[in-house]
Amino acid sequence: MNRALNFNAGPAVLPETVLREAEKNWLNFNHTGMAVMELSHRNKEYETIHEQAKLLLRELLSIPDSYEVLFLQGGASLQFSMVPMNLLTEGKTGNYILTGVWAEKALKEAEKVGNTFISASSKHQQYQSIPTENIEVSEDAAYLHLTSNNTIYGTQWQQFPGNIGIPLIADMSSDLLSRKLTIENFGIIYAGAQKNLGPSGVTVVIIQKELLSRSGNHLPTMLNYNTYADHNSLYNTPPTLAIYLLKLVLEWAKELGGISVIEKRNIEKAKILYDAIDCSEGFYLGHSEKESRSKMNVTFNLTDDETAKSFLHQAKEEGFIGLNGHRSVGGCRASIYNAMPVEHVIQLAEFMKKFRKYN
Ligand SMILES: *Cc1c(COP(=O)(O)O)cnc(C)c1O
Repeated sequence: MNRALNFNAGPAVLPETVLREAEKNWLNFNHTGMAVMELSHRNKEYETIHEQAKLLLRELLSIPDSYEVLFLQGGASLQFSMVPMNLLTEGKTGNYILTGVWAEKALKEAEKVGNTFISASSKHQQYQSIPTENIEVSEDAAYLHLTSNNTIYGTQWQQFPGNIGIPLIADMSSDLLSRKLTIENFGIIYAGAQKNLGPSGVTVVIIQKELLSRSGNHLPTMLNYNTYADHNSLYNTPPTLAIYLLKLVLEWAKELGGISVIEKRNIEKAKILYDAIDCSEGFYLGHSEKESRSKMNVTFNLTDDETAKSFLHQAKEEGFIGLNGHRSVGGCRASIYNAMPVEHVIQLAEFMKKFRKYN
């Protein structure tokens, strides 16, 4: 069977070896006579999976002991609410940097909880860049929230704001595990798994332990980070199958050589597509400004709607999946997460050259 040329933005391509490993254990995990999703979450076999997933994340991302690693449900979208519910205490202001649709959604949820302030925004220029200059922090700021990679617009923070004196909160749904990070620079990092980490159903939250004391007792149990921290993310039934697959993806990442090897691969893959755009003499137009370009989502358009439509149509005929840009931006988007094979990226670049030649 040929694997699809899957450029979907999420859920997205997973490593083939991970899927094969899961298949091998599908009916009979570790000689238990049960599938992973049939195991009790209080069972030793499952607890080992759970612990390994946490430890591998700690190891791969060099997460210090002063941080908790939590497994939640509800996607990154629930974190838009949980962050302000837990951290935006009375009289404080949630600061937000707007770099796209996801950041706007995060802000909207915070507005329901308390005071907010827009620290910087690139909305006025169609979110084509990351506003790294003139980031303003309000008085009584509780935190500064940003989206590390803008899945829809194809922009990415290359260097995060430093020395801001308040916790930096990052939605890393589409680039966690794709590049080196200094965890200590963040108060909270969260990510829905379905882009780089595994299947949908589990959300990873990495939180500085110190911040856990901000959550008020009035919060609903399942919306309080402490519930997860105090019970090793086993207060209620966790998404066991998703966490098992997350563990397999993390093992694959470690086997590959860890974050530095993955980062290098991602730089190479992105370069192949950006070169195809930059060498096209204006046939392909990148959405993002060069210094803000994402290594995960390459967004581009063609000179007119007709050619773009024809490009997408022909790409589909040749087996490329998921190249349509997000409905809010249009054009084309190639999502090339960790698990995207280099060969598939090369095939796309070759198709882009061929299409240009005949048009
Ligand atoms: C996909 C995505 C989300 C939404 O994630 P859900 O898990 O579907 O809630 C949020 N933020 C970013 C940056 C994303 O890429």
